[in-house]
Amino acid sequence: PEQPDLEALQHADVAALLPVPAAESDKYRRGVVGVVAGSARYPGAAVLAVAGAFGGGAGAVRYVGPAADAVIARFPETLVHAGPPHKAGRVQAWVVGPGLGDGPDARRALDDVLDSDVPVLVDADGLRLLDGDRVGARRAATLLTPHAGEAAALLGASREDVEARRLDSVRRLAGEFRASVLLKGSTTLVADGTGGPVRVNPTGTGWLATAGSGDVLSGLTGSLLAAGLGVVDAGSAAAYLHGLAARFAAGHGGAPVRASQVARALPAAWRSVR
Ligand code: AMP
Ligand code: MG
Repeated sequence: PEQPDLEALQHADVAALLPVPAAESDKYRRGVVGVVAGSARYPGAAVLAVAGAFGGGAGAVRYVGPAADAVIARFPETLVHAGPPHKAGRVQAWVVGPGLGDGPDARRALDDVLDSDVPVLVDADGLRLLDGDRVGARRAATLLTPHAGEAAALLGASREDVEARRLDSVRRLAGEFRASVLLKGSTTLVADGTGGPVRVNPTGTGWLATAGSGDVLSGLTGSLLAAGLGVVDAGSAAAYLHGLAARFAAGHGGAPVRASQVARALPAAWRSVR
């Protein structure tokens, strides 16, 4: 029989994917996620990505970048580092890009992370600086998380083209970059480039269309990557929790939410799928 084009995770699928710390677990076994994000201009993106990373259950979060003061003020648990990412110590997955800017430091940090042999999620400004050959040469998994505008820039297409053919677009991107791709938007899609079924997220809500919510998703997804989930599972489980968290934060009837409130509702989203 022909494979279906699309598949959607359900509560029980997500519950089975989410890690539960073993009694004898330690922070390294739970996963250390590295976040390379933020800039003098956009310190908040770093804070939100770190918030998402803690909401994903990482054993530790390392932050590398110029917004360490803002990150520490909000999350004193964070391990902050100056210098290049590869000197930051043990990391099981990297998130790179939110609010990073497009200067030489940003490019150097991105390339440094892509040279690692652990899974890397590239979002936002990281996508603008991305060197496709470097991605294709990686041995570990790479997950690109564009919204339609970022996807259009990567494909050399218009945003309208991407929105009109979201399924084709996510598959084409995955094929061209030899990476997995999570295409954000009203129907978030996750493709792994093998031509298999694409995951579609069933929990999305228009309340997520707010500044910074994508930064929370990138940290959250990175946390699940660090815990050892495969890229497609991490991306689709994260999108699922992210949508639930936004719905919980919006509440019955619905009220506007900020990205920080989405991050704050992540524990409730976890509990609801258990
Ligand atoms: P970004 O564009 O990077 O800020 O990310 C926005 C986040 O909100 C992504 O997780 C999107 O999938 C989500 N999002 C944006 N608009 C919608 C929408 N209309 N319905 C559901 N989710 C949305
Ligand atoms: Mg974004």
